[in-house]
Amino acid sequence: MSDPFESVYEEIIHDHYKRPKFKRSLEGQPFVENPSCGDKVRVSIKIGGDGRIADAAFDGAGCSISMSSADILAQMLIGMTPERAHEIISTFLKVLRGEKEVDALDELGDAAAFKGVARLPVRVKCAALAWRAALLQLDQQGYAVEVD
Ligand code: ZN
Repeated sequence: MSDPFESVYEEIIHDHYKRPKFKRSLEGQPFVENPSCGDKVRVSIKIGGDGRIADAAFDGAGCSISMSSADILAQMLIGMTPERAHEIISTFLKVLRGEKEVDALDELGDAAAFKGVARLPVRVKCAALAWRAALLQLDQQGYAVEVD
């Protein structure tokens, strides 16, 4: 309960939830939904002329885990190549599925805040939602990479 690292993580999640920097009204694409919690989110990714992600944003409603996860994801994606984006999304989803050690999140910036969530099966779907939406976006734009 008094683990200092846990509370830092809670603060990160809370901050992205209360003061999202990448939440905007988006149009033209369906929401990805998590019926078990009522979360819905959609993600917009724009690739710039240099082949890197020039803009990323999300739109939606839901619990603090799903919304903060979307904000952290958008923040992380900007400046990345679509291939690298696929890689980090894949790593994140594998950790949540228990296929990779939670320490793999250490290289993913604020996404490390979800280490605790990875151990809570009921919240895993909340955390994964935006990342799944981002994969769909990349696929739709022709950046499909084999992600298992
Ligand atoms: Zn949720």
